[in-house]
Amino acid sequence: MTGTRVYVIRCGGYEQTEEALRSVLAQMGGMGRFVRPGERILLKANLLRPAPPESAVCTHPAVVEAVAKLVQEAGGRAVITDSPGGALQKESTLRHLYEKTGMAQAAARSGAELSYDASTRLVSIPRGKALHQAEVITPAAEADGVFDLCKMKTHVLMGMTGAVKNSFGIIPGLSKVGFHGSHPDRTDFADVVLDLTSFLSPRLSIMDGVLAMEGEGPGASGTPRQVGLLLVSENPLALDVAAAEIMGLPRDSNPLLLAAQRRGLTPNRAEDVELVGGSWEELRIPDYRFPSNVRRDLMEFLGPLAGPAKKLCKAILSQTPKIQPERCVGCGICQKACPGKAITLEGGKAKVHPASCIRCFCCHELCPQKAVALKRGPLGRLLK
Ligand code: SF4
Ligand code: SF4
Repeated sequence: MTGTRVYVIRCGGYEQTEEALRSVLAQMGGMGRFVRPGERILLKANLLRPAPPESAVCTHPAVVEAVAKLVQEAGGRAVITDSPGGALQKESTLRHLYEKTGMAQAAARSGAELSYDASTRLVSIPRGKALHQAEVITPAAEADGVFDLCKMKTHVLMGMTGAVKNSFGIIPGLSKVGFHGSHPDRTDFADVVLDLTSFLSPRLSIMDGVLAMEGEGPGASGTPRQVGLLLVSENPLALDVAAAEIMGLPRDSNPLLLAAQRRGLTPNRAEDVELVGGSWEELRIPDYRFPSNVRRDLMEFLGPLAGPAKKLCKAILSQTPKIQPERCVGCGICQKACPGKAITLEGGKAKVHPASCIRCFCCHELCPQKAVALKRGPLGRLLK
């Protein structure tokens, strides 16, 4: 990850996306700097689940369409894909995903290809810390270059999701469950996504912050918020530093930046980012709403604890998912996505068994019905 420059451009509506991106790319020396004729460029959008553009769950199709056009104009071949959570990676899953998220339309309008390749490849990650190899979706392994088209969103586990976290989507479908199970701590999980980003090495990261998400993101429980910004950088970490600063996410609630700092990855602080197109003072959003989650600083303090002691403290202090039966339709998505095997379906409704729960919040993230609430115990409420 190199470069410290982040370009910010105001974009009041998605109809202005193409013009805004053309203007940024011109300042960056043109798309020809990032695409050579004949190359297959993977447009790695954030397509968490089959959700419509107005829900702000996924990267907006207008952003993907505009980038695809620019790639094609530079002589490249744009290929759109992602691997959604909570579902098997297969052609029918991808077809449904592309229809619901507007990607099918974005591809038809721009001439980009939609990838239905559901196969996987084992790749090595030479600079990995938590991962030295991983099974990833084949299009990510075979692309000549990758563009990281992420979304500005809050995230109940990681505080926010942006360019770095977007790389987790290259882990195929339900295999994501295993990663949450083997790295339940957000600190460890931050290392996983930093490793996957080092493998992906996106040539460009572009954040859709036009209709962003605040509150209990990153799934259906989050609230869309008009922010009207696009952020562009050659360095996904720099882009996330800038987004966190604009959103106002406290550093101690941002495990990705803390992990980057521990690993000596830069930039990991706003003062080390070169912002083009505005100043922090003008861009900061004072009232951005973050998930009402656990006292993160306290959880960091508990970091040195190990084994059962840590698990107990986490269980007492952290939030626990609770199903709201009046909303639950018994679709079973949460059960499939649960690494702790802590969810059963009883009488057509999901039920969480807290003793087995590792607090990864995948159920909350993926439930399409907003049926998973996050509740604290009495001590957690007191400490909040
Ligand atoms: S809680 Fe949500 S994801 Fe789980 S079964 Fe109910 S509706 Fe489906
Ligand atoms: S119940 Fe939800 S938060 Fe708990 S382990 Fe399962 S998916 Fe994760």
